[in-house]
Amino acid sequence: MAARTFACRQTAGGKHENADVCAQSACCQACLTVEDLRARYGDGFEAAWDKALAAVRETQNEVLTYEGALIDAVYFSCSGGSTEDAAAVWGTDVPYLRAVESPGEQDAAKYESRVCVTAETFAETLRALDASAQLSGDPSGWVQSVTRTPGGGVDTLTAGGRTFSGVQLRKAFGLNSTRFTLLYEDGAFSFDVLGYGHRVGMSQYGADAIARLGFDYRTILRFYYRGAELTTLDF
Ligand SMILES: [Zn+2]
Repeated sequence: MAARTFACRQTAGGKHENADVCAQSACCQACLTVEDLRARYGDGFEAAWDKALAAVRETQNEVLTYEGALIDAVYFSCSGGSTEDAAAVWGTDVPYLRAVESPGEQDAAKYESRVCVTAETFAETLRALDASAQLSGDPSGWVQSVTRTPGGGVDTLTAGGRTFSGVQLRKAFGLNSTRFTLLYEDGAFSFDVLGYGHRVGMSQYGADAIARLGFDYRTILRFYYRGAELTTLDF
């Protein structure tokens, strides 16, 4: 239902002259061919396909709306314990995309990850973002302060007298998410990261965890997209 809502909204956006949506995740909608899926799922393909097909049929024409318009039904892999406010990641407040606790994701492969860099690489990377960062002397004093987003991500980090956003640091250091803690020890900085993805909207591992507790898709969607309504489209 989230994927349908997402695709329908993209279609209405009129991004492409000769197509409703394209198959690039950064532009419209992530897409894999049946052959790709067969290769990825191997022996589990038939069961996964049947399950997905049943979900599509059982929710036929159902979409999510907010104040009568299709919502931006964004989703991602794993939140690391809490989703994020849209405003904290993309700078625009969206009433139904707010941080919510998302427990039960600990079994996800990318729930926790770590990136370690030498003090030298750390300084070089920050200077590439802002050449005026003063990073010399004892590295243990380089990071001055960290502020957090409502979803527990890093909003800003001040180092060497310059302020960097969590989104900027995620990209520069290749972190799985902005929900990280930073530690300096023995000449190296380590980022301990929770979750994987932008963490805005629905967590796929979180949705799975809630479903395993016996809740249905309606409850799960309302949990992640607060205030959104389930509506049946009249095609
Ligand atoms: Zn596109």
